[in-house]
Amino acid sequence: MSDHLTLVDPEPSEPSSRSAEHLDGVAAALAARGVALVVGTTVNAAGLVLGKLVAPSRVRTFATSGLGAAPVWSVFCVDASVAFTPTSTVVGDNRLRLDPDALVVLDDSLAWAPVDLVDQSGDPSPLCPRAALARTTERLADAGLAARVGHELEFVLVEPGAPTAQGERTPETPPATWVPYGAGPLLERRAVAQDLLASAQRAGLEVEQLHAEYGAGQYELSLAPAAPVAAADAAVLARVVVGEVARRHGLRASFSPLPFAGGGGNGAHQHLSLTRGSGPLLSGGDGPYGLTAEGGSVIGALVDALPQVLGVLAGSVVSPDRLRPGFWSGAHACWGLENREAAVRLVAATPANPRGAHVEVKVVDPSANPYLATAVLLGAALRGIEEEVPLPDEVAVDPATLTGASGASGASGASRTGDRPDVTLLPQTQREVLDALEAGDVVRGVLGEALTASVLAVRRHEVGAFDAVPPSEVASRLRYAWSV
Ligand code: GLU
Ligand code: MG
Repeated sequence: MSDHLTLVDPEPSEPSSRSAEHLDGVAAALAARGVALVVGTTVNAAGLVLGKLVAPSRVRTFATSGLGAAPVWSVFCVDASVAFTPTSTVVGDNRLRLDPDALVVLDDSLAWAPVDLVDQSGDPSPLCPRAALARTTERLADAGLAARVGHELEFVLVEPGAPTAQGERTPETPPATWVPYGAGPLLERRAVAQDLLASAQRAGLEVEQLHAEYGAGQYELSLAPAAPVAAADAAVLARVVVGEVARRHGLRASFSPLPFAGGGGNGAHQHLSLTRGSGPLLSGGDGPYGLTAEGGSVIGALVDALPQVLGVLAGSVVSPDRLRPGFWSGAHACWGLENREAAVRLVAATPANPRGAHVEVKVVDPSANPYLATAVLLGAALRGIEEEVPLPDEVAVDPATLTGASGASGASGASRTGDRPDVTLLPQTQREVLDALEAGDVVRGVLGEALTASVLAVRRHEVGAFDAVPPSEVASRLRYAWSV
């Protein structure tokens, strides 16, 4: 049973759930339940979760005229700098407008909802990531298509360092021993796990499973698929819930792509499926594993687009250190059935897969803005369908064996085998990733000029700001940049 506030008024009176009457009812219901704080969040171009808090009595204002947010919200950087662009300057005002339909009660005192960025007339701001994803979903709908997206959240639970005689703390470290996928690490954190699942359920999140991941101290929860905007909202909400639960247990949750230098990374894989009418594109066809021709084009287009959209999917200064061959993060632009080293893993429709066929895009990491990441993936997929991009050859082996890219020791430079199947190692430095984004047209076509410029600005800022900083210090300074 979820605490979605639609329970308060299942049939809000028209014109919409933004009517004064409905919103005042929501505020009253929140207050009656003892909720004291309503936090509204957005995610900016650097993947930072930003927000504002109000008392329930201000929900009506938050959801109608909105609360102020300077255009620079889009370009706040991971080190608290601002990366100005022609659109994101010191001048101007956007409004943060709470979406009352997505409001949920998290606990006895806190409620949460996503916000849209609108201009002072109430029209979507070109800097609004949620609107960019909604637009992309509408373009799919215009083409007769619908998408579902399931997010995975990987995070590392970190204990505080020990107090020292000088009143400081020793540096944080991951656990010295770890059993990947171990039942031990799960049961050791049983109180956290129990709180997490109960809190997620209370927030209306559909958690498919929780497990101890490969990296030391790392856990993962997977969310059930949903429509693209709702799924991205859920991914943000889940991050809020994980953060709250960790705090309650004296821990911190790191959502950095690289919580500790040299260790395994956190991914934020997205599982995508598409349908035309009631027919899935990734099963029921004549192609390999039942792919339809359009499903093949989706996969072909995703693989083709990866090098130029990587800056949106995994563009932070620590992202390249996660995206290495041998770490199951999908460092090669290729696809394969159940291939966990391919950037695009096909999960076919089998009795073992009650959700139906889908592709898992593994390159996405938690420094990405989930709205923008889904938007560019779906935008690329749509373009692939329109242009009838062919399905490339499948890679049915570890792609590193085809490119000669090495694993843990780190690979550099892009390489092609020249033979079929054609496999490219994705750009391995942040500079190359951003150059490819800037030179390409997929991201700009989907996100528009203003958001594209924001992404490039914040990520280019990171290149300069961290250029001379040792990797272990970069990892520790950014360990909680993407936490809530
Ligand atoms: N932690 C890996 C990553 O960075 C993913 C491991 C897995 O779930 O396959 O993407
Ligand atoms: Mg995982």
